[in-house]
Amino acid sequence: MALSSFGKLPGAHIHQRCLYWFLLLCSLFFYPAQATDTRPTLDISTLSETLLRAPAEFRKDTVETSFSAVQTRDFKPLTDRDINQGITEQAYWLRVTLSNTGDAPVTWVLNHETSYIDHMQVYFRDAHSERFQSLALSDRVPFHDRPLNYRKLAFQHTTDANSHTELYVKLYFDNADSVSLNFHLREASVFIQQAQAEHLFYGGYYGVMLSLMTIAMVIALLLRNTTALMYAALLLATTTKWLLLNGYGFQYVWPNSVFFQNEGFHIVFLLFAVCGLQFSKSFLKLDFYFPRVHTLFSALQAVCLLGIVMRFAGWYVPILHLSYTMLAVLALVIPAASWAVWRRGAHHARWYTYAWLIYSCTLWLALGSASFTWFNWGMQPLMILQLGSLLEVGLLMVAMSEGLMGLENDRRQALAMANQDPLTGLGNRRLLQVEFENFKERYQRGKKPVFLIMIDLDHFKAVNDQYGHDAGDVVLKKVAKLLRSHSRDKDVCIRYGGEEFALLLEADNQEEALAVSERIRREFASTPTPYEGQLIEHTLSSGITPVLSQGQSFNVKEMMRRADAALYQGKATGRNRTVIYEEEHVD
Ligand code: GH3
Ligand code: MG
Ligand code: MG
Repeated sequence: MALSSFGKLPGAHIHQRCLYWFLLLCSLFFYPAQATDTRPTLDISTLSETLLRAPAEFRKDTVETSFSAVQTRDFKPLTDRDINQGITEQAYWLRVTLSNTGDAPVTWVLNHETSYIDHMQVYFRDAHSERFQSLALSDRVPFHDRPLNYRKLAFQHTTDANSHTELYVKLYFDNADSVSLNFHLREASVFIQQAQAEHLFYGGYYGVMLSLMTIAMVIALLLRNTTALMYAALLLATTTKWLLLNGYGFQYVWPNSVFFQNEGFHIVFLLFAVCGLQFSKSFLKLDFYFPRVHTLFSALQAVCLLGIVMRFAGWYVPILHLSYTMLAVLALVIPAASWAVWRRGAHHARWYTYAWLIYSCTLWLALGSASFTWFNWGMQPLMILQLGSLLEVGLLMVAMSEGLMGLENDRRQALAMANQDPLTGLGNRRLLQVEFENFKERYQRGKKPVFLIMIDLDHFKAVNDQYGHDAGDVVLKKVAKLLRSHSRDKDVCIRYGGEEFALLLEADNQEEALAVSERIRREFASTPTPYEGQLIEHTLSSGITPVLSQGQSFNVKEMMRRADAALYQGKATGRNRTVIYEEEHVD
């Protein structure tokens, strides 16, 4: 019809021009049809591994759209910018023709980058076949029913030499979730090598987590430390979370329990939040530093626990949102609380703050890549999050060790104070008892004999009366200094009570012990103590008894009785002297 009406137009040149226009229009009309016929082709003859990108193409469609309908629609080249599709209910189609220009067949494997994508349907047609075949892969399918026993959905196929395979892949979630279009295409042997390398990497990761968990449990049991128990619980929750995200839980730990792998993972996320909050409350002593924050943490835990109950009761989408919100809330409140406690002077909160900051940064990165389309890393930040998580739990262990070391230091300090005389810094009676046992052990191993010198200041009451109590204290400190300077490190100087001192020492024989005692006595008598412009004259008396020598061995009570008896003898015979205990002094 159109040609005949053109033919009625006057003038041949006009006629000709119209024909050109007609042909041009026709060519424009047919152009798109020809374009859709040229499939994007990727040469796989030298394939080792690649992340699928253009020439591969993709399109977004409703989940219901059929394969035959999709084939006639437009696809766009898959570029880096298209990798993150954010949280969506749509299905994504990917298409590419894999052309093998080589002389040998190529077996390849295509897999999605995450293990939790719900469905991946593959439509494929080799050069020699007319119809497309299809294969539906789903993460709801137990591993033994999957074509490839791999933790991610994967499709394996062989493209003959000098041939090609047309491929369409449909990707979708049952409920809205974040879609990444990162697909790995690998030569089959490379796929196997990498799957094994992954086992090694994740084996290391889970090995570290199990070791930390064991150490935490041992500390918790041996020291009866509930914070360590909380840490172990957090490690367990973290490990479970990653077993789930890595797809290993479904494969090995709770084999083929579809609920926990796909529907119930928010329960694990919420449990992780509960444990993180509990560990923080306990480690940071929030009820002491910030009671209100402690209450807030408890309230958040209650919300999480309620969420878990609701999930079991059948709620899905609200709990999905709750679990992600809680992970994000944790990333804000825990580092903030930890930093505030650190600022209050709790030094061990320092590593705790760093640990949770690492968690925060890597979590925001992963949440960002799951939510925003302008982010073009796909779900690779999950890997960073997992490494961050490893660093986090390691630092938490450092923080906990530092906390425990602080407790141990406090304990040691308390013990030292319990054994020390505050005025002179010498040991007290309790220490004499403890050290006596050590001397006994050493003596039994064949070391030197042990002697006790008991010292009592002469007329000390008079010093106090004449110069005042403070002056008396200065004199007592001087005695302590004297005892230290005339004894060796392994000897034990004790302030036994008021103005009585004891020196437990090793000596070759009694004469040597006597010499030490006499040196102390003489120096004390010959060097009056200056006090507020006056010189305080003073003397002391001492009694000596062998404690462990020549087969003799006394207990503390007996040695004190003997030294006291000798001392009493010294006092009775004029003071400012040293008396050695002899049997006849008794009774
Ligand atoms: P003697 O030669 O018989 O030992 O006479 P003394 O005065 O030293 O003995 P007494 O036991 O009667 O008095 C001991 C005095 O030591 C009495 C007390 O005020 C004094 N004293 C005890 N502890 C302290 C102290 O910590 N500081 C001072 N400044 N004096 C103390
Ligand atoms: Mg006395
Ligand atoms: Mg005295």
